[in-house]
Amino acid sequence: MREIFTARVEPSKASVQGGRHARDGSADESFAHLVDGFRRFRAEVYPEQQALFARLAKAQQPRAMFITCADSRIVPELITQSSPGDLFVTRNVGNVVPPYGQMNGGVSSAIEYAVMALDVQHIIVCGHSDCGAMKAVLDPAGLQRMPTVKAWLRHCEVARSLVEQNCSCTAGEALGVLTEENVVAQLDHLRTHPSVAARLAGGQLSIHGWVYCIETSEILAYDAGTGRFAPLDGDGPLPVATPAPRYLQA
Ligand SMILES: [Zn+2]
Repeated sequence: MREIFTARVEPSKASVQGGRHARDGSADESFAHLVDGFRRFRAEVYPEQQALFARLAKAQQPRAMFITCADSRIVPELITQSSPGDLFVTRNVGNVVPPYGQMNGGVSSAIEYAVMALDVQHIIVCGHSDCGAMKAVLDPAGLQRMPTVKAWLRHCEVARSLVEQNCSCTAGEALGVLTEENVVAQLDHLRTHPSVAARLAGGQLSIHGWVYCIETSEILAYDAGTGRFAPLDGDGPLPVATPAPRYLQA
């Protein structure tokens, strides 16, 4: 249902300029831009997709759970060309998944609900290029006035430590390597959640680790077999991050 995003996200001249003007202008102009967009959604987009919204009004059956960064430049529905109802999205600073038991917060609740109530068959953890959270993990000096963000990003410490002790990468390469290792670390955390672990063991759930490049649109996906990231749309077999099931259902 590409049309849903055509009106809002595709970089037509008007929408790109409108976005810039809104941000460059006053707070009132920024908010007016949002309300104006809502008016266009109701007047132009909603009528065209009325059947879809009528179907969604009573239930959801998302194809996948999508855990990504809160960064405004990542639009899961746009880059996967998905419709409302397709993705169960959870976002936070650094696409973090706290290990089970450490925090009964929004991410853990969303995972449990997606797996147990919605029966999602795929969970994607998606990091991205130029991530402010990953920059802060590498250089936490800027977090002095943000104690909550600093505390949250301790869930990325495993990735930072791993890169620091194993990677001989240059300062310029460190951000990209850390971004990938953070996705791998959050996949590991994901597997500590009982609902996830049980369905992985039973072969009813797949997990995926992606890194999206804002500039090129490329997505690299983690392959647990090779321990490397490879293009999601490459010629070879799809990269697989899911561990082999141990209790296949009859
Ligand atoms: Zn980010």
